[in-house]
Amino acid sequence: MGELLDAGLHQLATTDPRLHEVLVGEQLRQAGTLSLVASCSPVDPSVLASQASAAVNVTAEGYPGRRYHAGCEVIDGIEQLAIDRARRAFGARYANVQPHSATTANYAVLSSLLEPGDTLLGMALDKGGHLTHGSPAAYAGRYFRAVGYGLDDAGLIDYAEVERLAREHRPKVIVCGATAYPRQIDFARFRRIADRVGAYLLADISHTAGLVVAGLHPSPIDHAHLTTTCTHKQLYGPRGGLILAGRDADAPAPRGKGTLAQFVQRTVFPYFQGAPVLNAIAAKARALDIATGPEFRATARRIVADARAMAAALADLGYAVVSGGTDNHIVLIDLSARRMTGLVAELALEECHIVVNKNRVPRDTTPALVTAGLRLGTNSIAARGMGTDAAVACAELIDLVLSAVEPYSDREYHLPAAVRELARQRVARLCAAHPIPGYPIPAPQRELTVAGR
Ligand SMILES: *Cc1c(COP(=O)(O)O)cnc(C)c1O
Repeated sequence: MGELLDAGLHQLATTDPRLHEVLVGEQLRQAGTLSLVASCSPVDPSVLASQASAAVNVTAEGYPGRRYHAGCEVIDGIEQLAIDRARRAFGARYANVQPHSATTANYAVLSSLLEPGDTLLGMALDKGGHLTHGSPAAYAGRYFRAVGYGLDDAGLIDYAEVERLAREHRPKVIVCGATAYPRQIDFARFRRIADRVGAYLLADISHTAGLVVAGLHPSPIDHAHLTTTCTHKQLYGPRGGLILAGRDADAPAPRGKGTLAQFVQRTVFPYFQGAPVLNAIAAKARALDIATGPEFRATARRIVADARAMAAALADLGYAVVSGGTDNHIVLIDLSARRMTGLVAELALEECHIVVNKNRVPRDTTPALVTAGLRLGTNSIAARGMGTDAAVACAELIDLVLSAVEPYSDREYHLPAAVRELARQRVARLCAAHPIPGYPIPAPQRELTVAGR
């Protein structure tokens, strides 16, 4: 494999220097940037290598042992390894590793459990839900009758509202799981509500899958009928998705179509997708092995400890932390009292090589591309081995920049050049002291590391 990859890299550099340059540029950007984006994480080099494998060359419609093409006996081993590892990681009875993304996984499930016009109850997008959970801007919101639940005054999921809406609208499917929610989700409570109205429960744990595997967040596997996740956020894997089932794998599927597990098999292929992306599946197998390995629990503990430390430090510095703290990797900051939009904060921090994302917060009335808040996440810094001291340093860096920002409008502001330079230096030092594991340290940072010691 090494020879093949080396030959490929050599050819890329010599025959397509422009593309090579941007690819190298992106690697360097990541090495020198403080990424606090909650939906990102750096993959292990072995995950990268698996994805760059010759598995990409095979078309293999179908499933291991039952393909529509010859020549799949080796590939079958790769997919079976991914299935076995997914089941082991999540304690699931059933796993489908073919979804191209979590969006695809959700739509495969929703488009088979529901008929067009049927009712779906999910967390509203502006309260922390995902586009695929019924937002009018996306497929599910257009083809189904989507009803959205939200948060109570403390910023926690309003379970009483979920139950009231479920009784009122009688959804066929209830979706739990979120994209910007810093607290634990009570899957058992969601299931009780679903059972009371005869709905299927879909848990989408794209954001917290790593904590679930590590046992640091309750698992939905035996509460939800089906669980979906992406593999590229907290599982540190390739871009892709999984569909899992536990206790209900053998429950009846709708319209007498066998068991739920059999139903999902047909739902992913041939109903919703074509051939699987086997190099991505190889990389999923690799990432899932790492996620059940000895070091992952330590990383997962660091994810939560860092987020708690960052939330506490930001609160001490006078920031409004939504829900007062965090149970997972997410820290949501409400900037409305500081008269600064999320967009201004995001742009100012980006100038200083700190990458975050603007996000709606409870009672937010600003447009989605402006917002009144920021979403921070600790997956990347935890992977870089940054502990709570570094997480507090990140909070102080954010404050250094945001305290110096003078907004002129929703998107325009002034940031003194001296503050920008100081913040960039501190970011560079932090990144140099904590390189992304397995990734080479860029030359300027190597000097910083030496100088810092
Ligand atoms: C990110 C996310 C998705 C979509 O994941 P993709 O694989 O990027 O399509 C779905 N659901 C939730 C809750 C997410 O956070």
